[in-house]
Amino acid sequence: MAGLPIILSAPSGTGKTTLCRALREQLPDLSFSISHTTRSPRENEQDGVDYHFIAKEKFIGMTDRSEFLEWAQIHDNYYGTARKNIEDTLQKGKDLVLELDVQGVETLRNLSYQGVYIFILPPSMEELEKRLTGRGTESSDQIKQRLETGKREMSKYRLYDYAVTNVTVEESVDTILAIIRAEKNRMSRYQPTCPEIRKIIESGTS
Ligand code: 5GP
Repeated sequence: MAGLPIILSAPSGTGKTTLCRALREQLPDLSFSISHTTRSPRENEQDGVDYHFIAKEKFIGMTDRSEFLEWAQIHDNYYGTARKNIEDTLQKGKDLVLELDVQGVETLRNLSYQGVYIFILPPSMEELEKRLTGRGTESSDQIKQRLETGKREMSKYRLYDYAVTNVTVEESVDTILAIIRAEKNRMSRYQPTCPEIRKIIESGTS
């Protein structure tokens, strides 16, 4: 059975990176999609681990050849999910997390891409501003811009199946794990491994 695509988004500063790190620790079998981007690596980021860092020309070549399932321009840089990598992982039956911005999610929804869509939200705008200021990586103008972008993104909340308010990492990870567990037990995904039960189910009429 193919793996489950888990699409995660959050307004900048909500704490998605920390949450994903904790998720990896709790579910070592979970795969994470490695996007392509034209932005420069930050300190501590590794090519092929955090992103595939590529030049703009190469990115445009990939879009021309339709190699991306989705791509978006975010803050002057391009980000995209290469089709091949994610299809290979899912076909091996591995569940896969895709960390996308809201534009990417809109693209996937327009393609009726099947998966579980989770939106991580801050407890309040005040707290979001505090977290953005606290990480000290953006200027006050950039923080203002990120808060405005965050508001626009939050207004698109209907694109998602689930909302998780990120008060503490532990609580949010627990909620995300519960969502994944429940989604994997959806009747529409049920494939009995026991041949006898499979036979009974396949012969069912309702
Ligand atoms: P950052 O530059 O901070 O790593 O990421 C900026 C934004 O780009 C985040 O919201 C992140 O989720 C989003 N992002 C990362 N990879 C992709 C991708 O492949 N496609 C889309 N649409 N967004 C992405």
